[in-house]
Amino acid sequence: MIWLLWLFRVFEVLLTRAHGLSLRNISAKWKNLLVHMTILKASEPYILTFLYRMMSSAKKSSWNMGLVNSMHDPALLFISTDLGVVIRDKYPKARHHFLVLPKSDIPSIYHVKRKDLSLLYELHLLAVNVIEILGMKTDDFKIGFHALPSMQRLHLHVISTDFISSCLKTKKHWNSFNTELFLDYEYVRNEIEVNGSLRRIDKQKASELSAKELKCNQCNHVASNMPNLKSHLLVHSKR
Ligand SMILES: [Zn+2]
Ligand SMILES: [Zn+2]
Repeated sequence: MIWLLWLFRVFEVLLTRAHGLSLRNISAKWKNLLVHMTILKASEPYILTFLYRMMSSAKKSSWNMGLVNSMHDPALLFISTDLGVVIRDKYPKARHHFLVLPKSDIPSIYHVKRKDLSLLYELHLLAVNVIEILGMKTDDFKIGFHALPSMQRLHLHVISTDFISSCLKTKKHWNSFNTELFLDYEYVRNEIEVNGSLRRIDKQKASELSAKELKCNQCNHVASNMPNLKSHLLVHSKR
């Protein structure tokens, strides 16, 4: 935009020199063009800021809004009601891994207040429905929330306790489901009932839990690394 204006100025100077024309003599059309260029030049910072904001918000949404997009993906959709949807987790960390999300825009479990408890109850019912539909036992599942949610939009995890999946790769994955970084539905509901909302986990404690030793969720075995844990988990597997 700047160089266009310069080009125009150079053209104007050449024109003036060659024909003895001054800006006064230049036709109204040219004057108008000059005015428009000036307006464009003046508004350039605003246009650039606007474009930058558009680009950065689009980038942010593609990172964070993955879940909201998944809600509308027919390949992932499992159940849909007036209040919520159940989708398959795109990167399942066990043989059965679902997410229950409200249709209303609640960013996280930390935004749920006492008045939202009936909605939370509905989401839990949907979670139980999933297990019924699969013809499995609730004892073979964990139903709860991550203390450090990574995705925008409140979601309740419904995950089978086998933890057999190629998407389960890191210590962080394991500990997010198998330490206090995973908050059972009952615990969360009770906290909100008693305190009005859920208190955020201490950052220091969260990073300690994230780095905790890899203890099996079905016996006392402590694995030395993830491949070791993954092969150990197969021992408990019935299939
Ligand atoms: Zn999550
Ligand atoms: Zn074990």
